Amino acid sequence: MGHRRSCAGRPAVNGRAFTFRNHLAPLPRSRDTSDSDKDPAKSAAALRANLGLQELRSLHELARELLRLAPKTAERQPQSVEIELLGRRWDVEYVTGRRVRTEEVADERLRIHAPSLTDRHASQALVPWLMRLASHSLSARLKPLSAELDIDYARMSVRRQRTRWGSCSTRGTISLNVCLMFQRPEVVRYLMVHELCHRRHMNHSRRFWSLVESFEPGWKPLDVELLQGWRNVPAWVFP
Ligand SMILES: [Zn+2]
Repeated sequence: MGHRRSCAGRPAVNGRAFTFRNHLAPLPRSRDTSDSDKDPAKSAAALRANLGLQELRSLHELARELLRLAPKTAERQPQSVEIELLGRRWDVEYVTGRRVRTEEVADERLRIHAPSLTDRHASQALVPWLMRLASHSLSARLKPLSAELDIDYARMSVRRQRTRWGSCSTRGTISLNVCLMFQRPEVVRYLMVHELCHRRHMNHSRRFWSLVESFEPGWKPLDVELLQGWRNVPAWVFP
């Protein structure tokens, strides 16, 4: 299989499926992963230990670094949600409620109901809302694109995955990552073109890439942008 750094085939239960993935096992944001991230005091100690006496970093720089490493409560309990694909932004408010859910109270306002305000509750409320929105908005883009390219597919599904942007099965199911919602429309269109082209070529052969190129001549920078797209994904998507 002609293999690009951003794409990898994987066997599927019912045959073969080709997937678009990042080989680097990316996480949404690197700062959400280490233990010290959760404890600013530990981060400070680790930083001081690493700096050494002769290190010429100023206190100001240290403070800035600490801010960068501090737990991003703002990201896990967001005050607003920005959906790049739609060019829309919602303000978020939190209220006490028995059942964890997100209520859309106005065009640009979400209300999160939860028994208590925790990172987990914020995610539990927001992720299903995001999945519904993605299902609707991605399908509203894939359908006309399929008609434009004259390449059909059987169905579309939305998944929340850390490593794959999309895949196409031999049965014609195109799976799209919900994190595409945080990418630019041009990038999302390219990923969709890519998966639709797998309906003609279930591989990454030269013929596959020239088909992609015929529909999206500027695919290369979009491919690079997509690889780096994980950094646009807010922490609450993966609690
Ligand atoms: Zn592919």
